[in-house]
Amino acid sequence: MENSPRDQASSNVVPQPIRMSDGAGATDLGPRDIMRDRENPDMLVPPVTDAGLLPNMKFSFSDTHMQLNQGGWSREITVRDFPIATTLAGVNMRLTAGGVRELHWHQQAEWAYMLLGKARITSVDQAGRNFIADVGEGDLWYFPAGIPHSIQGLEGGCEFLLVFDDGSFSDLNTLSISDWFAHTPKEVLSANFGVPESAFSQIPNDQVYIFQDTVPGSQESQKVQSPYGTIPLSFTHRLLAQPPLKTPGGSVRIVDSSHFPISKTIAAALVEVEPGGMRELHWHPNNDEWQYYLAGQGRMTVFAGNGVARTFDYRAGDVGYVPFAFGHYIQNTGNQSLWFLEMFKSDRFVDVSLNQWMALTPRDLVRDNLHVGPELLDALRKEKWSVVKYPGCTYENK
Ligand code: MN
Ligand code: MN
Repeated sequence: MENSPRDQASSNVVPQPIRMSDGAGATDLGPRDIMRDRENPDMLVPPVTDAGLLPNMKFSFSDTHMQLNQGGWSREITVRDFPIATTLAGVNMRLTAGGVRELHWHQQAEWAYMLLGKARITSVDQAGRNFIADVGEGDLWYFPAGIPHSIQGLEGGCEFLLVFDDGSFSDLNTLSISDWFAHTPKEVLSANFGVPESAFSQIPNDQVYIFQDTVPGSQESQKVQSPYGTIPLSFTHRLLAQPPLKTPGGSVRIVDSSHFPISKTIAAALVEVEPGGMRELHWHPNNDEWQYYLAGQGRMTVFAGNGVARTFDYRAGDVGYVPFAFGHYIQNTGNQSLWFLEMFKSDRFVDVSLNQWMALTPRDLVRDNLHVGPELLDALRKEKWSVVKYPGCTYENK
């Protein structure tokens, strides 16, 4: 008995570019990368509904350059690797216990999600107000463009995702304190700080970026009293601790400037899709969507209009992208929960549900437009569910 490409992907059978439903295609005689083919069953054998020219909407952090330093590492996905992703760029960073992402700033705002472990962040704003906080798993931070900051791994170290509101950003090209010192005449440093030039004899020759330091003491022990007080809007938010919107098939936690006021340029949803469930057919009327997959595996078809649609497979560590207003769904294709972040360069999270749109439109108009009967019309929902699951509609049954 023949297996579908998805069954072949999870077994020892070598997957072949042959569509079971119509017999189209033929065996791949090689050369080929079978591991990659197993990871991309919907590329090897696209659904018959895929058509036309849609650029790549998937890039994996596993295909990026690793910047290794004493104290941690970083890797990034920007327009240089992933040309469609113009609105946002992502950085995956690890800091050891005590490892420091040095004092720096940049022209873009920074939004972050702590994946594992704990870190301490610091900042000072234009009014001389300061900020210090410890963040743990599932917590966010946001630094507005141009505001200086630092990140340090606490006991056990940490790993996090950084998202910047410009696809051409690079974390290797920020404004760093060590870089500025190294590229300022020593007599100017002396004049600026009112100390002899000899005070600068040991400064780094170049950008430090990440360095190993000792684990800091308590937040209280590091606190610096500012005469101007502390920053009034928190730079952190506990997203995973936020009560989720529970829907049949999963859960959603939405965070934008209405929940996290400082986050004026980035909105996000943390989505969980149970096995057999899917993020329903929808689109976003505000901006492009940038996705980061945290756990599990799924597939997404992006519909671009004019008969154009393309399907991609994603797993933990991948980034996906959907241009403004293009239709899409995300289906869990594995047997564990699929977790991902959907993110927007926007002050708000908004989406339009296909199901809800149809339910709130005159019934005879929908019927005559799509040639569908009461079976579908009666099943339409006036509520938006975001993540759906119906008995008998699991991916495995297809
Ligand atoms: Mn930064
Ligand atoms: Mn979406």
